[in-house]
Amino acid sequence: MTSIHEQYKNLLAQSDFTGEISESKQDILEHSTDESIFAIEPQLVIYPKNVSDLQIAVRTANALHKAENPIHLTARAAGTGLSGGSLNDSVVVNTTRHFTTIHSVEKTKTGARMVVDTGVMHLDLEKKMDKLGVYIPSYPASKDICTIGGMVGNNAAGPDTLRYGHTAAFVRQLDVVLHDGNAYTITPLSWNDFEKELKRDDALGAIYRHVWELLLHDEESVLNDRPKTAKNSAGYALWDVVSTTVEEFMKGRGVFDLTQAISGSQGTIGIITKITIDAVHKNTSDKLVMIPIFDLDQAGLVIDELLQHKPHSVELFDKATYSAALRNPGFFKKRLTGMSYYKVILKMYTNYIFKFKTKTPEFIILASIEESEKKSVDVIVREINKKHGAKAIHVTNPTESEMFWQIRRASYLLSKTQSNTMRPAAFLEDMAVPPKNLPAFFKEIQELFTKYSVHAFIHGHGGNGHLHFYPLLDFTDPKTAPLIPTMAQDFFETAVKHGGNICGEHNDGIIRTPYLDMMFDKNALDMFEKFEHVCDPQDIFNPGKKVNPRFTVAKNIRHTN
Ligand SMILES: Cc1cc2nc3c(=O)[nH]c(=O)nc-3n(C[C@H](O)[C@H](O)[C@H](O)COP(=O)(O)OP(=O)(O)OC[C@H]3O[C@@H](n4cnc5c(N)ncnc54)[C@H](O)[C@@H]3O)c2cc1C
Repeated sequence: MTSIHEQYKNLLAQSDFTGEISESKQDILEHSTDESIFAIEPQLVIYPKNVSDLQIAVRTANALHKAENPIHLTARAAGTGLSGGSLNDSVVVNTTRHFTTIHSVEKTKTGARMVVDTGVMHLDLEKKMDKLGVYIPSYPASKDICTIGGMVGNNAAGPDTLRYGHTAAFVRQLDVVLHDGNAYTITPLSWNDFEKELKRDDALGAIYRHVWELLLHDEESVLNDRPKTAKNSAGYALWDVVSTTVEEFMKGRGVFDLTQAISGSQGTIGIITKITIDAVHKNTSDKLVMIPIFDLDQAGLVIDELLQHKPHSVELFDKATYSAALRNPGFFKKRLTGMSYYKVILKMYTNYIFKFKTKTPEFIILASIEESEKKSVDVIVREINKKHGAKAIHVTNPTESEMFWQIRRASYLLSKTQSNTMRPAAFLEDMAVPPKNLPAFFKEIQELFTKYSVHAFIHGHGGNGHLHFYPLLDFTDPKTAPLIPTMAQDFFETAVKHGGNICGEHNDGIIRTPYLDMMFDKNALDMFEKFEHVCDPQDIFNPGKKVNPRFTVAKNIRHTN
């Protein structure tokens, strides 16, 4: 441990800090990886017990920090992130031990409003939401292993984002410890309230004034900087802070809502302690349409057609994923209980033999469509088949439906079961293009995989043109690390060429921050840097993520699979 971290540890121990401070080998190792391709050992791990502990941790770091001898704080929740957002070589602040209280879950007209500590597991909140028949529609596929704070930190998204948007769309209030060590409640503000808040003489006031000046003088360019794809978690979403236009807002319409830029900021602005978040009623009338795709050009046309019917989700997974499921029935044993396990597995094989006639499609598309009075799902299915020569099926059997969704939700973990000597590498896993460009984009991606002689698993959110590519790579092989930046450059260029984005939902982290200039112009990058600097002048919070890349991609690659 460096001497500044030794000093930090001693100062915390002598202060009123009541949480745990650890430099144990096990803690350091556990916090040196997440689900990304990186491995970076922190010097210390701290587990604050309450907001006051966090304030002490921030103030102590601020007092000790020197640019030439820095101390940094990185918030970490469940550590399931895929971009390396929770990794740091200084101090990791783990919130999952003590920030775990669900304060309230109250029914509302549209669903429920919930107040939770940042480290609450989604799974635990889901048990309460289930009782009310509500859910957070931006839930990620990792919903059983991640926290609400991590969902906000990454601005996570999932299948139903197609209709409902990212997690930020459900955030109503955030309690955050900012760089001055004070705790703030940040909430949407009307013009009248905002005018008063602009006069605050503290860290929050300075941030409000900075963002307001920016929007007042440069609103058009801020709005133009918003990526054009429906999904995005890159950069700071300053374009979403005013819900109307500046002019309208000053006339009293809409709100100024800084929570929209803090959501997805990966702990670079402050440490969130408490979250007020909304859930909506679950849709119980959704029908599942399954379309096996044997020809890629057909995929683009079918997705386009499905989108006309305003589906809740249009998801897909590839042949390799389906085959992995067929080879590993035991994988689902932990995920399904009692008879439902046997029923789902039996359905998987009978489907393969009788519906697919043992010829696995290149892709399987799953679309959730609400039955409308105008057009029944059966009519929609007939039309798709007639127009596009597809073999769409309205899945009416609940076990069959469960079988397809089980495979989709487990796509990433299934790819992990495929090799003991290789790991599905998360670095090409977050590109999104306009859905109509999917076939052309995908063909070029396939050519690139052939060029690099790499096999990849593919799944994703077809309706958003958002595909997760997971190439299988051996991280114990020294040739892997130098390959990553070269491949990233090639693949990201292809996404951008097809009107796309390199960061749909897993955020910038270590892997994408160095490549953000492919997506944003200098003006936008300057805007992000200035915003981050006002929020965190000493760069205490999670530096190197989102702006000013600090970790070299190839140098910090993990060496284990
Ligand atoms: C199998 C699998 C499937 C996945 N599927 C999806 C998916 O469908 N969609 C999706 O969006 N993501 C997905 N992910 C990525 C990840 O699981 C989610 O983004 C998740 O919400 C992260 O939650 P976490 O609790 O693990 O957060 P962490 O990984 O611990 O943290 C995420 C980020 O938030 C920051 N953060 C954490 N706590 C705080 C805090 N208190 N204050 C400020 N910042 C904080 C961290 O610094 C980090 O940058 C998947 C990952 C896996 C392994």
